[in-house]
Amino acid sequence: MAATENAPAGPQRVSVVLTGPCNYRCFYCCVGHERLRGARFGRLATPEGERQLLQLLDGLGSCVLNLCGGGEVALLPNFLSLCGGAARNHRLELISNFSWDPTPFRRAVPADRVDSLILSLHPEAESDLVGFQRRVLELGEAGYPLQIIYVAHPTRLGAIPEYHGFFTRHSLLFRVIPFRGEFEGRHYPQAYTAEELARILPYVVDFSTHYGFTRGARLHWGRPCAAGHRSFLLFEEDGRILRCQHSRTVLGNLYDGWLHALDRPAPCDALVCLCGQCQAEEAFLQAYYRCGGQLAAPLPETSLREYAALCEPDWEFYEPYREALAAQHLHWGARPSPRDTSS
Ligand code: SF4
Ligand code: SF4
Repeated sequence: MAATENAPAGPQRVSVVLTGPCNYRCFYCCVGHERLRGARFGRLATPEGERQLLQLLDGLGSCVLNLCGGGEVALLPNFLSLCGGAARNHRLELISNFSWDPTPFRRAVPADRVDSLILSLHPEAESDLVGFQRRVLELGEAGYPLQIIYVAHPTRLGAIPEYHGFFTRHSLLFRVIPFRGEFEGRHYPQAYTAEELARILPYVVDFSTHYGFTRGARLHWGRPCAAGHRSFLLFEEDGRILRCQHSRTVLGNLYDGWLHALDRPAPCDALVCLCGQCQAEEAFLQAYYRCGGQLAAPLPETSLREYAALCEPDWEFYEPYREALAAQHLHWGARPSPRDTSS
């Protein structure tokens, strides 16, 4: 890739959305089984694509490479060589269904080059629960930072206490995350009943997830955000590089060899945000401005309440968009008071 313009110094985050196949068919999958059936990995699965991605990361400096998407990351034919190559200069984060043998991964990527392995416990893994738990414990004992995530589909709530008990007994983080989609004619996460939330929320450990369960999407349009300046989202399929998964601002293309990063935080240009990225970005912004516009110090430890205050949207600002938001089934009516953020 040609010289990266406006790339800020310091740690970056590059999320790569894989659009390839998956070996599972979860009944609640929001990607869609039809799309998964026809899916193929793109140029990133070739040696040239891999080389271009590593060159992009090296051009940005020290990065966190996040591999995610609607395909299973470990099915990427060059998964191990890509992860191993990236781990030489960068750190890794993966979101995976963890249907794979961890031993070759351990050989390719040392534990101290991994930021987080986010492993989903899906229905097909539940059919061999002992095998899933054994693989998880193997990685945990080898020192890899792990978290287990579990989609709180309304039909799956009964198993939460048992799974939470098992993983926390082994000092592993078990996180329930909202189901996003339609079930029996109702749209989730907005449709969770008070009774369902009472079963779920005791197991929710972070503000971002609590927000997702109780309020749905965040509304950040017009507010300053460092996405595009400090973090990027790359679609493996065609190489497009965007600010984030909700923004339409194209900043570059991996395969065409250009990236024009924003030279400073810029107003959010997306109506809603469903990812957890915004909160990180907003926490970052606080530090960014406190340091006179440069990241001269590590991000401050932020308490849950302070974090909540940073993320609270300007509701007046969004009033004119009430109808558009309602059309997207967003959680508007049952908005709790801004101070009701403890969990
Ligand atoms: S593992 Fe993920 S991508 Fe694959 S079917 Fe399940 S939810 Fe969909
Ligand atoms: S949607 Fe979130 S991450 Fe994307 S630009 Fe807006 S605030 Fe930033």
